[in-house]
Amino acid sequence: MNKCLECSKEVEGRSDKNFCSNICKSKYHYNNNKSKEGNVFREIDQQLKKNRSILKKYFINGDRILLKDELIALGFVPKYFTHYWKNESGEVYLFCFEFGFLSKTENGVAKYTLMKWKEGMG
Ligand SMILES: [Zn+2]
Repeated sequence: MNKCLECSKEVEGRSDKNFCSNICKSKYHYNNNKSKEGNVFREIDQQLKKNRSILKKYFINGDRILLKDELIALGFVPKYFTHYWKNESGEVYLFCFEFGFLSKTENGVAKYTLMKWKEGMG
């Protein structure tokens, strides 16, 4: 006999049933989905922090134009950012907290221009 995946009570009836009741079934799926969402959130959070630390490291070096591949190789994932900012020419910088990057392709080579968020950029 199977045991209920939620409350461990023995499940009566068909041997392919995993839950003693519909209540246990929905509780189990609710908790399961909740923890999955939690993991996704943690992953994004960690990736954002990683992105920030990579940008920070390069920004401090004063080396503001970088090869995209170089950052990607370090674990930078450009699809994760906290917000964006458009400059007067309409170029969009993506930010990971206070460090931003602008993606540009020059002579077929993808590059990033880095900048730090300033007061009043709004
Ligand atoms: Zn149960």
